[in-house]
Amino acid sequence: MDLVSALAELRENSIVTGFPCSVNTVWKTLNDKERQALETVFADSKVSTTSLYELLIANKYKVGKASLYKHRAKKCRCFR
Ligand SMILES: [Zn+2]
Repeated sequence: MDLVSALAELRENSIVTGFPCSVNTVWKTLNDKERQALETVFADSKVSTTSLYELLIANKYKVGKASLYKHRAKKCRCFR
């Protein structure tokens, strides 16, 4: 396969619009109280995203570290 076709195929396979990121997927499984607590932590600049990530993973929530950073900064696909 030539480069042009390979790049076109890569783009085609990369379309993910409409799908929430892993943070949003976890978000949907939380109850109101948990959501509120998580939102408070997101808004609290004292809490590092890395420590939040470690806490979520330790509690068996499957989030990606990059997704968590992007979601917190509202730069993931949930906010587009
Ligand atoms: Zn997101």
